[in-house]
Amino acid sequence: MVKVNEYYTRIGNNYLFSEVARRVREYKAAHPGERVISLGIGDVTREIAPVVIEAIQAATREMASPDTMRGYPPEAGYDFLVEAILEHDFLARGVRLSADEVFVSDGAKSDTGNIGDILGEDNRVAITDPAYPVYVDTNVMAGRRVELLPCLPGDGFFPPFPARPADVIYLCYPNNPTGTTLTREQLKTWVDYAIEHRSLILFDAAYEAFISEPDVPHSIYEVEGARQVAIEFRSFSKTAGFTGLRCAYTIVPKELMATTSTGETLSLNALWRRHQATKFNGTAYIIQRGAAAIYTLEGQRQIRAVIDYYMQNARIIKQGLERLGLTVYGGINAPYLWVKTPGDLTSWEFFDRLLTEARVVGTPGSGFGKAGEGFFRFTAFGKREETLEAIERVKDLF
Ligand code: PLP
Repeated sequence: MVKVNEYYTRIGNNYLFSEVARRVREYKAAHPGERVISLGIGDVTREIAPVVIEAIQAATREMASPDTMRGYPPEAGYDFLVEAILEHDFLARGVRLSADEVFVSDGAKSDTGNIGDILGEDNRVAITDPAYPVYVDTNVMAGRRVELLPCLPGDGFFPPFPARPADVIYLCYPNNPTGTTLTREQLKTWVDYAIEHRSLILFDAAYEAFISEPDVPHSIYEVEGARQVAIEFRSFSKTAGFTGLRCAYTIVPKELMATTSTGETLSLNALWRRHQATKFNGTAYIIQRGAAAIYTLEGQRQIRAVIDYYMQNARIIKQGLERLGLTVYGGINAPYLWVKTPGDLTSWEFFDRLLTEARVVGTPGSGFGKAGEGFFRFTAFGKREETLEAIERVKDLF
């Protein structure tokens, strides 16, 4: 009889968003005709930028001729995209990386989820709480023990250092779900920690494009010493509406080393290359052409307009809820707003009240970890009219 990976039985059955979807489905079935507005989605709603569409169309036409068609793409990405990434996302911020440190992929979810494949099972892992569920679930699936670092409002959501030195640390800034960030100084304390304890930081910067304040680093490599200790994950999903197109990239600096049980030192860059060559067959050419188009002047203008649209939604939600006396975090450098639930309501109680009394959906904070209990996440990715209407409905509820 086939044996399962029993670690899979240790992760919760209901992935957070499935449970949200189930409750909404049941409510709608019981109240046909009622319109529910979601401020809970982590998906984009604006159309894809014209420069991206044009680039994808042109690349698709290339596929129609035997002379210009492309087969399997290079596993780590086409040079034209890698060069654009290096120049615009890093060199423009004073960070010098080389082309063989960039790994283009089909998503930051797969990369943050798969990176554990190259790390030993007995690493001590520390993950901020609350967090994007992929970090904890994939470590549990791999049989690793995880120490959670509760991020609380009293500390400005700054993660406490682990009780026991951690080998691997997950940081996500700007943060999903709290919408908060670390200043350059604060991020430096984590880089220093990692240097001192010879740990690896897995830095998820999927929301980097939403940063508006000057003191917030866009890349961990803006901090001195980070190249020795950090892998960084980026995504075109929220930056440029690629959630349905799929393109992301991961930076693995060549200085990054890890040891075997016998003390041999191996390059994580080489291991990740080996991983991708074995388990991944590249991101579609037409999609990489679409991604590269965002780095043109016109592309930058177009994606900036969309990000500004979402951040205006964030202001509408933040101001609307604050006027009701609610405490709201985030929404300045991130498309997420982290709201303290009113009274003593738990996250799910607040979810049910909002759903049944205001027909508004958000995401219960407790779904992102224990420290998220008593909080609620709204996202700024909705349509403007719906965002405005949702806030009016919440006002009526109060
Ligand atoms: N990392 C964080 C923190 C996210 O919130 C998300 C998506 O919601 C991802 C990664 C996944 O991004 P991608 O669409 O590139 O898989």
